[in-house]
Amino acid sequence: FRDPAQVRALLARIGRLVDRIGGTRDRPVTIMEICGGHTHAIFRFGLHRLTPEGLEFVHGPGCPVCVLPMARVDDCVELAQRPGVLLTTFGDAVRVPGTRGSLLQAKADGADVRIVYSPLDALELARRTPGREVVFFALGFETTMPATAAAVLQAEREGIANFTLFCNHITVPPPLRALLQDPDMRLDGFVGPGHVSMVIGTEPYRFIAEEFHRPVVVSGFEPADLLQSVAMVLEQIAQGRAAVENQYARVVRPEGNPRALALMDRVFEPRDRFEWRGLGEIDSSGMRMRERYAAFDAERKFGVGYGAGRARPAPESDGCRCGDVVKGAMKPPACPLFGTACTPQSPVGALMVSSEGSCAAYHQYAGLR
Ligand code: SF4
Repeated sequence: FRDPAQVRALLARIGRLVDRIGGTRDRPVTIMEICGGHTHAIFRFGLHRLTPEGLEFVHGPGCPVCVLPMARVDDCVELAQRPGVLLTTFGDAVRVPGTRGSLLQAKADGADVRIVYSPLDALELARRTPGREVVFFALGFETTMPATAAAVLQAEREGIANFTLFCNHITVPPPLRALLQDPDMRLDGFVGPGHVSMVIGTEPYRFIAEEFHRPVVVSGFEPADLLQSVAMVLEQIAQGRAAVENQYARVVRPEGNPRALALMDRVFEPRDRFEWRGLGEIDSSGMRMRERYAAFDAERKFGVGYGAGRARPAPESDGCRCGDVVKGAMKPPACPLFGTACTPQSPVGALMVSSEGSCAAYHQYAGLR
């Protein structure tokens, strides 16, 4: 998947296809890579510099840390500061800034915030500290949802009463619909996520081809994977077709992973609405815990977030252009804070926090076009 001869052949094929479609520097063919892992791989391997100028990568909303709205971070900080609460989450999440700082700052101020590698680690902390309320700040797309669901079911089996989730799980298809319905968006096709599709399969993207007539190719993460996927998208455009195709067939099955899907469905259900940083509220895009698991739901137990009947869109920091970058309306270096006030060491916006965030990827791998 990194063979130079194969990569050169794919680049030549992409060049021919872009010429055939008529992509130019001023009017490029635009392909959105949905997944933050793909954004990172494109910059890591310099694919954005190897592909022709008539092709533009637009970086999509597929980094869960990056699209987490300020209000949810604020709710989480508030939870962490409650007496008796031990708040657990993944490493990236502690650095996401809210309006009242990040979880890392809350920890510095005395809150008990701990980094875990999986929700089962959080459950283990709940077992070992029965006198504390252990809250797991759960976030991520369909990729991480099955593991969170498994932890809740395990807690139920063992009757662990001091374990709850602050659930921020989100799903990929609804924001894609929102982007396609935005009259300002100009997207010619999509490179579909690999890990999410391993769970949900390829069927949920069908509306993109059938209703919006845009090609989607689910892709792997190696350079040849991505270039082959781009070539497959371009081929569809050149032929006037729009279909869902699977380049990552060695991992992704059309039906996804039925066991993982069943786990998710048992514990979670879609919320009516959920706010995304930069995209606003999107119907049925966030997940919450089913009534049966209300005892494990931190929002209900502690009366925070939607559990408190609040939907508080919080303003972004002054000068921050995360919203425009998430929508693909501008590139990170055009943000006035990029590389000055906002750096990976001191992020102002969420896109600079995770290595999958497009601002962090631009910052880490220089040589921008
Ligand atoms: Fe947001 Fe920072 Fe990127 Fe600007 S440079 S868009 S503030 S993450």
